[in-house]
Amino acid sequence: MTYTNLLAQLKSQDNWLITTHKGPDGDAIGSVVAWGALAQQLGKKYLIVFPDQPAAYLCPFLNGYNWEVFSPEKHYPQNILFALDYNAPGRVGEHMSAFVADFPATKVMLDHHPDPAAFCELMISDTAACSTTEVIFKTLEKLDLVHLLNEPMAKGLYLGLVTDTGSFRFPSVSAYTHQMVVALLQTGLQHFLIHEAVYDVNSVTRLQLRGYAIAEKLELFADKRIGLISLSKEELKRFAYQKGDTEGLVNVVLSIEGYEVGVFLLETDEGVKLSFRSKGGRYVNAFAQKYFAGGGHQYAAGGFSSGTLTEVLQELKNLLDQL
Ligand code: 5GP
Ligand code: MN
Repeated sequence: MTYTNLLAQLKSQDNWLITTHKGPDGDAIGSVVAWGALAQQLGKKYLIVFPDQPAAYLCPFLNGYNWEVFSPEKHYPQNILFALDYNAPGRVGEHMSAFVADFPATKVMLDHHPDPAAFCELMISDTAACSTTEVIFKTLEKLDLVHLLNEPMAKGLYLGLVTDTGSFRFPSVSAYTHQMVVALLQTGLQHFLIHEAVYDVNSVTRLQLRGYAIAEKLELFADKRIGLISLSKEELKRFAYQKGDTEGLVNVVLSIEGYEVGVFLLETDEGVKLSFRSKGGRYVNAFAQKYFAGGGHQYAAGGFSSGTLTEVLQELKNLLDQL
């Protein structure tokens, strides 16, 4: 029923507003790109609206698409809104959440995060999917629209897959994921160019920041199999920090033999952003939600605290037994 209604909406609405979460990652960018490419294939007008500026390394994927950063003063088309890769209005940030929640026309969610809030009329939420781009591909199949798949769309879909699965290694990867890759490659997609564009674009200072973080800032709690890395504003400044420079750093902890939980703390002007990663039987989303106003997936979650880095680190250390 949802799919029938969605197909009717896609056909009848000519002006699509495509949104994703704040601090868009590869899956968020890949999803909006794929959905924008679908709009183009169907001859629709569309606009991709981000809550904030995407990281520089992801911007090349947006070349050729209509996109902008949300402005509260602007009047946006109000035909239909797509909420891609997020499960609650709060995920688009304070300045945009009311716009999404109060959007006066049909809202459509395509997402894979647990516990979706019921803010969309049409909800395609598949929490078993490895990425939102996998949800999108499955949806194209259900709607009998796979014949519209082209290389630009495949590029977005593959970007989401590779980044949300740690290059096809997480438990969320299934036979279906690989079947999807077959279809993507058949469009002529050059997958290696996507890996290179995401993983071979380090600046020297980014690599040096990473080296410093591992050499000087890794704190290990061997008995708990937990490792923490934290970076202060001052340290970030020293290494000419750019948005996205610490992406993936938290995974370093999980690559240490025997370690099951990694936490990365990033100090910002507003407070401290926390990233949690885990494996095995350890889950982090409930902890992130309970103690750090966040959430996410069982093995990858995030949160926020408005204290200083020293305060939040101490707060976290006091809670390690709960993790
Ligand atoms: P990251 O550590 O890469 O920022 O986020 C990891 C995962 O946790 C992402 O899939 C994201 O959806 C989720 N996440 C990150 N921050 C938050 C947050 O503040 N609230 C919620 N609900 N989820 C978050
Ligand atoms: Mn995702």
